[in-house]
Amino acid sequence: MLHFREGRSCVRYKCGLLNTIQVVLRQRPGWVEVKDEGEWDFNWCDVGWLRENFDHSYMEEHVRINHFRNHYELTRKNLMVKNLKRYRKNLERDVGCMEASKCEFFPCTFALPSEYHLFVEEFKRSPGSTWIMKPVAKSQGKGIFLFRKLKDIMDWKKDGTRSEEQKDAAQVESYVAQRYIENPYLINGRKFDLRVYVLVTSYVPLKAWLYRDGFGRFSSTRFSLSSIDDKYMHLTNVAVQKTAPDYDPEKGCKWQLQQLRRYLTAKHGRETIETLFKEIDNIFVRSLQSVQKVIINDKHCFELYGYDILLDQNLKPWLIEVNASPSHTPSSQEDYEMKCSLLEDTLNVVDMEGRLTGKEKRVGGYDLMWNDGPVYREDVNLGTFGSACFSANTHLGCVNDREKQLRRLLKPFPGQKRM
Ligand code: ADP
Repeated sequence: MLHFREGRSCVRYKCGLLNTIQVVLRQRPGWVEVKDEGEWDFNWCDVGWLRENFDHSYMEEHVRINHFRNHYELTRKNLMVKNLKRYRKNLERDVGCMEASKCEFFPCTFALPSEYHLFVEEFKRSPGSTWIMKPVAKSQGKGIFLFRKLKDIMDWKKDGTRSEEQKDAAQVESYVAQRYIENPYLINGRKFDLRVYVLVTSYVPLKAWLYRDGFGRFSSTRFSLSSIDDKYMHLTNVAVQKTAPDYDPEKGCKWQLQQLRRYLTAKHGRETIETLFKEIDNIFVRSLQSVQKVIINDKHCFELYGYDILLDQNLKPWLIEVNASPSHTPSSQEDYEMKCSLLEDTLNVVDMEGRLTGKEKRVGGYDLMWNDGPVYREDVNLGTFGSACFSANTHLGCVNDREKQLRRLLKPFPGQKRM
């Protein structure tokens, strides 16, 4: 008989998704699926379920669910930028310009139609530049297009000349207009972005974990600014690239982060790439801090975010967006294995089994990145003058010897042999 938190004999889970997470939950020793209205201890739901049910659910102390109630404050494109802009302004007021400048990692963005006039002012300041229009609540590249002329976005102009009736009929979807990164870092002439996983187990205090693995998502067509209508060239979403006429399912369009970090290190040297990865860490922490006071903190909730980061030719990382429901649908065997490990380790950190002490800095492929303040590595080096030289406890794109680490860390489930 297994014993979990509070002496329970199993974890009753509910799962609203039909992909890798379903497989991982099924295989977990002592976890039992409940269907329909059955009572659950753990729920991996989609955001639609959350919207409909969260407010009417009573949750006992030990229960866990995979989203925060208002997760969209970070994961909807317009709200993310609104929160980041406010955070930057507050930093400038309270701490100064230097600190505020550490938030310059998102491209200039306007919400349309509400900020149309502000957008036009900015647009006119740099004639000829390229912008990207994105529906705020869609994903997988749906509804996105690039433009260089105002006439291409006339539908999103606030039109004072229309009658109320016409306005209603012409209700336009909310979009963001964002400066297009015109100089992406290219490998073999192709653009890519990074998909990185961050797990938040609490907002107050902020506790965030960074997964070591992730991947680069490449476009299948050589990059050029001469044709802005080719989505296979400009959008790196796998959902888009999969439909490209020359897409090769064997090869896919992904590089593992380890491979990417090695490539970049060989090309630019260790120090430069360490600085780049530090800047990427800064993006995770600042973006989470920007919503820390807005997200309704709830001890039952955790969230596995999928961050999209784009590098430009100066090796500056840009935050493109944060996903609340990063795809767990695998695109290859390697991808499947990575996603299974990611999800297993997410469950290990959430720890329904009660096997952790709460003081861990590493659980499998996750490193604790922020715990109400920066987290440092155990191996403190003494600097030249004997002073300790701390480095952050993050290992993005580094070796992920998770199984070895888990064997050391976790007691086996009672009655189960060690891995
Ligand atoms: P979605 O939620 O539909 O995936 P994203 O904001 O992630 O929307 O954009 C889709 C893709 O478009 C990104 O993966 C990236 O390749 C490209 N992209 C988005 N915004 C920009 C930008 N400002 N500059 C350059 N490329 C961008």
